[in-house]
Amino acid sequence: MELVNGKYQLEGGIDPLQLCKTHGTPLYVYEASTMQRQYERITKAFTYPKVHIHYACKALTNLAVMRLFREWGAGLDCVSIQEVQLGIMAGFKAEDILYTPNFAGFDEFDEAVKLGVKINIDAIPMLENWGLKHKDIPVCLRINPHLMAGGNEKISVGHIDSKFGISIHQLPHALRVVESQGLIVDGLHMHTGSDILDVDVFIRGAEILFEAARKFPNLKYIDLGSGFKVPYKVDDIETDVEELGEKLSTRFAQFCEEYGRELTLMFEPGKFLVSESGHLFARCTLVKQTTSTVFVGLDTGLNHLIRPMFYGSYHKIVNVTEPQFKPRIYTVVGNICETDTFGSDRRIAEVVEGDILCFYNAGAYGWMMSSNYNSRPRPAEVLIYNGKAHLIRKRETVADMVQNQLPVTP
Ligand SMILES: *Cc1c(COP(=O)(O)O)cnc(C)c1O
Repeated sequence: MELVNGKYQLEGGIDPLQLCKTHGTPLYVYEASTMQRQYERITKAFTYPKVHIHYACKALTNLAVMRLFREWGAGLDCVSIQEVQLGIMAGFKAEDILYTPNFAGFDEFDEAVKLGVKINIDAIPMLENWGLKHKDIPVCLRINPHLMAGGNEKISVGHIDSKFGISIHQLPHALRVVESQGLIVDGLHMHTGSDILDVDVFIRGAEILFEAARKFPNLKYIDLGSGFKVPYKVDDIETDVEELGEKLSTRFAQFCEEYGRELTLMFEPGKFLVSESGHLFARCTLVKQTTSTVFVGLDTGLNHLIRPMFYGSYHKIVNVTEPQFKPRIYTVVGNICETDTFGSDRRIAEVVEGDILCFYNAGAYGWMMSSNYNSRPRPAEVLIYNGKAHLIRKRETVADMVQNQLPVTP
């Protein structure tokens, strides 16, 4: 979304205020062109020929969005069997889907085997289960290299007490299980969580995986996960994918030569691909001055965008109705009966009741983490594709919320 002659415009010159009038607020709007730009950035960053990007669809699991990534050539990264089912509905081939759950039951793995998708195992006891039932189905191992990814504890999953992955220090144990049961390991995987600031952290992780890879003769791919950071503020650092592509292409080719086979290099970004494409629009219900601050209250809350409260993420907020008014200092809050502060002491063009405000970076983990808390329906979703706005999810209704509820019968 851009300011053009003092007015905000979405892709194709679409007026966000008009969209809000048509579909109501709160409203999630995604620009396909931004998703495509990010997808192409990452694919073009690598000179190594066998790179495959799997879209981590938990970030934004709408079928229309998943279909776009399929058309552009991406595979899919799924963390539940239900995401796998949605991926197949969106037209992904089973072999282009990586199922990479955490603490999923064995029944889910059975289902994944039936569907024929690639399978990632992230615990030694599950590897032991594998030998009992699916010995002949190749698996990928999720290794935890214990990198500290960035500064935010809540979203770094590589540290020593993380529940994710098989610790690199347990590799000898994992190898005993693999060898004693004759398992076929065709991939190695790491995903150290969001917010890797630094290309060198990635490379360090890659080196740990390359070292481990020497012990597995049947590899077809190495998946370096995600952790790609996108900017939230003007001067924010983002992952320099171009630098990563350059450094890693050379190093990976060299590793493959040592290994003796050309492997596929995989990544599975979510946020990098969809965060910036998404905006959440909400209406100001009230401006309320207290003794210490001025609150702008919205017709949305932590039920629709929980990231700021859940892990302190920053979302830029602007006044779409009156972008030219003099900025004032506000604390922006939701309408939920919890403390749901979106941002404190924000400079926003003067807000009055009825103005439409917009949250940036709302494409990833926005709608997907939304809930019915306080029995407010979840927002509609609009995708702007080829200059046209498409409603890709209707606003929920009270009828939707009660459709699975049953009365007590005598
Ligand atoms: C969530 C997740 C991703 C995507 O992470 P982003 O920070 O959104 O890029 C990738 N791989 C796995 C296994 C995940 O669970």
